[in-house]
Amino acid sequence: MHPFAKEIQEKSGQNLSRCYQCKKCTGGCPTVCWFEWPNHGVVRMVQKGMKEELLGSKAIWMCVTCETCGTRCPNGIYLSPIMDALRCLAVEEGRPLPEPAVIAFHRAFVGSARRFGRVHEATMLAEFMWKSKMFLQKGFVGEALGGAKLFAKGKIPLMPSSVKGKAQVARIFDESGLKL
Ligand code: SF4
Ligand code: SF4
Repeated sequence: MHPFAKEIQEKSGQNLSRCYQCKKCTGGCPTVCWFEWPNHGVVRMVQKGMKEELLGSKAIWMCVTCETCGTRCPNGIYLSPIMDALRCLAVEEGRPLPEPAVIAFHRAFVGSARRFGRVHEATMLAEFMWKSKMFLQKGFVGEALGGAKLFAKGKIPLMPSSVKGKAQVARIFDESGLKL
């Protein structure tokens, strides 16, 4: 096995050598249209040690961890932990990240959970919009108006609610060594 494949196999806990390229994972993936390669291709590339291509790809950031691929795979291989392992490696190695909006969302989401002990949608969305510069994109006004209706109906609270054990939640993030 290629050393890169061995590393990803260990980090993800998935047995890559069991993949026989049946493509059932690809057939069920809801986001494969945004990947550069189909799911079975990603597995093959890991097996072949194509680290540079994978760590610089959009595919690893467009997986939404729905786990459909794993439930369809006859060999029980889940792509989501493989994608997670590739993402972590890309961040650890300081690679240029091709999907800044996805990264901005991850950071806003985790930052909100760290600050309030749970995600507060209003401030998380504001931070995400600001950091990703989504407010400059076409169609933003329509989406913002849709969001405003949710506020008006009280579906999204304006103020974060207090959560028991907030400090402990923050400590979990601190001890994980996560950099936001
Ligand atoms: S479904 Fe499983 S065995 Fe088939 S190509 Fe995908 S990962 Fe490989
Ligand atoms: S877990 Fe990721 S790769 Fe697998 S089906 Fe869902 S989006 Fe696609």
